[in-house]
Amino acid sequence: MTVGMTPLVEAVDLAKHFPVRGGGLLRRHTRALRAVDGVSFAIAAGETLGLVGESGCGKSTLGRLLIRLIEPSDGRILFDGEDITGLSVPDMRRRRRAMQIVFQDPYGALNPRMSVEDIVMEPLLIHGARADAAARAQVAEMLRLVGLPARARLRFPHEFSGGQRQRVGIARALILRPRLLVCDEPVSALDVSVQAQIVNLLQDLQQELGLTLLFIAHDLAVVKHISDRVAVMYLGRIVEIAEKRALYGAPLHPYTQALIGAVPALDPRSRSRGRRARIAGDIPSALDLPPGCRFHTRCPHVMDVCRSVDPPLMEAAPGHHAACHLLKTAI
Ligand code: SF4
Repeated sequence: MTVGMTPLVEAVDLAKHFPVRGGGLLRRHTRALRAVDGVSFAIAAGETLGLVGESGCGKSTLGRLLIRLIEPSDGRILFDGEDITGLSVPDMRRRRRAMQIVFQDPYGALNPRMSVEDIVMEPLLIHGARADAAARAQVAEMLRLVGLPARARLRFPHEFSGGQRQRVGIARALILRPRLLVCDEPVSALDVSVQAQIVNLLQDLQQELGLTLLFIAHDLAVVKHISDRVAVMYLGRIVEIAEKRALYGAPLHPYTQALIGAVPALDPRSRSRGRRARIAGDIPSALDLPPGCRFHTRCPHVMDVCRSVDPPLMEAAPGHHAACHLLKTAI
């Protein structure tokens, strides 16, 4: 979190373990897929935190946990100082106005049989508003804010490009004027040429509406542009979190270093150059986590201790935390 700022949202030892049945014909054994496994962090009001990591690292699950779209197995979530972890469904629904999500697939997230006006207005109706002139005026204002023409309101999702559909998804997420917006890979399904437009739009909206953003992506180039701080996730844990400049300028965790070595540029003209220093090996299964440091099966600096002792997240410099045994000798 930006030093000295009040957190809007805070995760404390947050975990989500999904039971998975297996083990022979009778499938009696239940194992736990530890998608998120003891994660603590905070996002300051008005801040943008980028959350990056490979597919399957738990970043989307973490985003959904934070706004209680899915229930945590353990840990707590604080929103504006209030513990929302145990709130009932009606109480949570009232708080949900303040926390919304933009999904990766703008087409799959929009009902193809509804007009843009109905899609964007729907959250207002769910929260008790009437489909009247005032609601239509709010929709029109929101379409303007996301850069869609007024005439778009009567059209249907299939009539739009991927980028325009994502603008509709953003308008729908913002119509309730949330304070926290979770953006779950909002540009991953879009053409490279459109990605920067949507990132710029989110950045403009963040400033105009005073939003707090959790921006989830696997592409470090996208996250660098929009974030104040960046958290790197690996197999259900945050392995490094720091201010953007510190993380990109002097990454401490070997996984972050490898990801930064593999960063393609957001500018498509330079995408073909310098790509790509792949990280050795595949990401292990969250059903069968390696002992010790979870990155030890792929780490170029692995030591004996790494195979048995799980390194905690340590503060190496003010606001710069990483989980690696190498830090013990450095700090
Ligand atoms: Fe690599 Fe060991 Fe650090 Fe893990 S703890 S990242 S295996 S050096």
